[in-house]
Amino acid sequence: MKKLNLHDQWTRDELAQFQHQQLLCLVTHAIHHSPFYQELYKNIRTDQCIVLNELPIIDKTTMMENFDRFVTDPRLNLTELQAHISQLTRDEYYLGEYRVVTTAGSSGMRGVFVFNRKEWSTILASSFRCGLIMGVSARIPNRWRVSYIVADHPMHISYRFVVSSDNHLVKTQRLKVASSIQYLVDALNIFQPEVLCTYPSIASLLAIEQLEGRLNIHPQLIETGSEVRTKEMELNIRKAWAVTPFNLYGTTEGGLFSTDCSLHRGMHIFEDLVIMEVVDEKNQPVQDGSPGYRVLLTNLFNFTQPLIRYEVSDMITMSAEPCRCGRPFRLIAEIEGRSDDIIYLQAPGGRDVPVHPIHFYTSMEAFEEIKEYRILLEDDGINIGIVLRGGVSGEEVANKLKASLRKEIESVGAKCPEIRVQFVDRIERDPNLMGKLKLVKSNVRREEIKKE
Ligand SMILES: [Zn+2]
Repeated sequence: MKKLNLHDQWTRDELAQFQHQQLLCLVTHAIHHSPFYQELYKNIRTDQCIVLNELPIIDKTTMMENFDRFVTDPRLNLTELQAHISQLTRDEYYLGEYRVVTTAGSSGMRGVFVFNRKEWSTILASSFRCGLIMGVSARIPNRWRVSYIVADHPMHISYRFVVSSDNHLVKTQRLKVASSIQYLVDALNIFQPEVLCTYPSIASLLAIEQLEGRLNIHPQLIETGSEVRTKEMELNIRKAWAVTPFNLYGTTEGGLFSTDCSLHRGMHIFEDLVIMEVVDEKNQPVQDGSPGYRVLLTNLFNFTQPLIRYEVSDMITMSAEPCRCGRPFRLIAEIEGRSDDIIYLQAPGGRDVPVHPIHFYTSMEAFEEIKEYRILLEDDGINIGIVLRGGVSGEEVANKLKASLRKEIESVGAKCPEIRVQFVDRIERDPNLMGKLKLVKSNVRREEIKKE
């Protein structure tokens, strides 16, 4: 942890040098201990300079199909790891040494990721480093009261992280994201967190509860992550608690490795732990300041399961400017969702047109009357479930919303399918769909993905 903090003072050159050394160690280790990499890198010479963007790109399917040859410990195999995952009840180790987590299963094949004790400590250190940047430093004996509202299954990294991070610095309250708002409100009122850490959509819902008088907490610090945070969510949070929320970014593949500093000019990427290459659909580099289609992630600290130029579907824009705080780490200017969330609708001529989820949020965001929503794209149209704020006429909102969505969809040249709006009392929150912005792809497409 202390070692990581020293890196904050580095220059870009020192950072680049460190990245190169780490990459060389990782590639050498992978070649010697992973039969998959031994074959993939048969033409790579480790006695020469290694150029990251000359290394081949890997994706989840390739990794999972070759799993047993991919990992560097021959005792690890997918069948047994999957059996281990299905029996997890809390924070158990595999072989007394490894933590095994998976990516959510909503977008096709589930990815399995393994970290040994040292690698897991790096994940914890990295998230404490986020805390420190945000101002949560050691406070003894009055530990910080931190409420996490996260996924509720030990196969999710956020659950394991919370369970394994309860220590002498923080007193944690762990709440399930799938709980009802009423339950969350009651639990938070009792615990009175000083730090609230959750999905931005949940923080925004809780902000409404606070503004309407049912919730009465006074967090000094709010951290949000795992989902796109829209302007409206941020506004609700500011209105309720008069604090600027911090944004966190991480992935199951690399842990929590990005947060904004107190200047809130974007999220610093801990480039001493990971390398992120923002690329387009053809995996070609995208200039800073322009949105990418996906990220190629290189995890510099996981030697058990080397992820080198590994495809992650997040659509990210890097800032072209360095941060004034002086840290050497580049800034993420914007996260625009996941390329998995792009849906395809027909154009009048019959061809498929990609529709970015942003078109849906833009419409939904304009309606202050809408408290929560879920959009389901089905074969026969778009079904929208809506929870309204009190005392609002549903019919009027539904008509205006349909018109607005139609306009957005037609603006990209697609034919607008039939839109049906239904008013509901609550939206079931499925942690597997969190981060998917409540936009669920059609059943047909999901079936197709499962068959792969
Ligand atoms: Zn900064």
